Amino acid sequence: DGVSLSLLSRPSRMMLLVNPQSGKGQALTLYNNHIQRMLNEAGVTHTVVITERQNHARELVKETDLSQWDALVIMSGDGLLFEVINGLLERPDWEEAIRTPLGILPSGSGNALAASIHHYSGVPPVFSEELLVSCGFLLCQRLVARMDLVSIHVASSPRLFSFLSLAWGFVADVDIESEKYRHVGAARFTIGTLVRLASLHVYKGKLAYLPATEDYSIEEGLENNKTLHCNNQVSSLASASRPSRDSPCQNTFHNSCHSNNSLKAQRTESTPSRSATKALAGPSDSLLLPLDQPLPSDWVVVQEEDFVLMLAMYQSHLAEDLLAAPGATLDDGFIHLIYVRAGISRAALLKLFLAMEKGAHLATNCQHLVHTKVRALRLEPHSPKGIITVDGEVVEYGPVQAEVHRGLARLITG
Ligand code: ADP
Ligand code: MG
Repeated sequence: DGVSLSLLSRPSRMMLLVNPQSGKGQALTLYNNHIQRMLNEAGVTHTVVITERQNHARELVKETDLSQWDALVIMSGDGLLFEVINGLLERPDWEEAIRTPLGILPSGSGNALAASIHHYSGVPPVFSEELLVSCGFLLCQRLVARMDLVSIHVASSPRLFSFLSLAWGFVADVDIESEKYRHVGAARFTIGTLVRLASLHVYKGKLAYLPATEDYSIEEGLENNKTLHCNNQVSSLASASRPSRDSPCQNTFHNSCHSNNSLKAQRTESTPSRSATKALAGPSDSLLLPLDQPLPSDWVVVQEEDFVLMLAMYQSHLAEDLLAAPGATLDDGFIHLIYVRAGISRAALLKLFLAMEKGAHLATNCQHLVHTKVRALRLEPHSPKGIITVDGEVVEYGPVQAEVHRGLARLITG
C-alpha cells in the first residue's frame, strides 16, 4: 500500500497542540519566532490548536477524527505529550490510534523526550531555544520510528501509560518541589536538587523486578510486525536500532527466561479476574499480577529496603541536562532501572547528579548506585506519605507496578 506507507513515513498534515503556559509562558512567541516559518518552508501543513487548560489536549485527542491528521505534534513540555498518549490509549480504537505519529517541540520546563530525540540523532547536546530549533528540523524530516511505552498500575486509579520515567524518592521530590521555580525554565531541576540535598531523606520500601534478558524479542507478535515492516522500509534509523524482530515471538521471552513451570502456568492460565489488566482500552499486561497479590516467583526482590531514590527510565534523558539512562534507545524494550541505596553521603549524591549531566554517573563506581535492565517492576513504599511521579506528573502514592510495551507508539524522530 504505497500511499499509506508514504503518509506514514512523511506525515504532513499535522495538528500542532501548543500549551501557551508551558515553561516560562513563551510558547506562542517561540512558535512565531522559530517554528512557523520552518514548517512552512519544509512544506509541513499544520494547524495550531492552543490548549486552554489541563486535560484539554487529552479530551481533544480522545474525540478527534484521527483520519484528518497524519501526525499530532506537541509544543509544550513532557506533560502535554503525557496527556495526548493517554488520551489516544483511552479510545475504543486505541490500537489504531496509538499508531498516529507523534512529535514534540520543546517549550516546557521539562523537555526530557525532546532532549532524548536530539541525543539519539547523534549530535552534541544543546539547550532551550537551540533544542527547540533542533527538534523543529528533526520534525521537518518527518521520519517515524517506534517508541516504547510503559503501563503503570497504582492501587485505585485507572492504569496510565508512560513514555519517559517512573520516579520515587529524591528525584520525584525534586521534580515536584521545583515546580515553584518553573519561571527559571529547565534550571529548576538544578535548584531543586541543591535544595533537596540539604534535607536528604531515606525512603523505605520494597522493590522487585523482572530482569530483562538481552535476547528477548518484541512481545506483541505478528500484528505489530506488519506495521514494523512499513517502518523498516522508510526509516533507516528505526531499523538500525532494531535487530531480529521478524519472527513472531510471543514465546521468546518465556523460553529464554528461567524455566519456571509454575510461573508459566500462572501467566498463561490467568483468568481475567487474576490478570492485572481488567477490561480496559490498551494492551494487556501479561507480566503483571494484581497489586494485591504476591509477586510472580521469578521476580528479583531487592534485599535493601532503605533507598534514596528509585528511577525507572525508558528514554535517555530525565531533563534537558540529565542523561540518566545513557544506554537507552527509543524502542529497546527495556526499563532502565536505577536505584540509590541509603547511606550515600550528600557529597557522593551531588557527584552522581553532576556526572549525570554527561551520563557518566554509571561509571563512577558508586557503591550505593545500582542499575539494571528490567521488563517489569513493582514498588511498595512503606511510608504512608510521599511522592511518586510518572513522566514528571504526580500519581497516586502507594504500591505501583509497571510493564514495558515495546514499540507501542510512533514518534517523529527525524
Ligand atoms: P512544563 O514542562 O512547562 O510543565 P507541560 O507540557 O508539562 O509543560 O505542561 C504542564 C501542564 O499544563 C500540563 O499538564 C497541561 O495539562 C497543562 N496545560 C495545558 N494547557 C494549559 C493552559 N492553557 N493553561 C494551564 N495549563 C495548561
Ligand atoms: Mg527505551
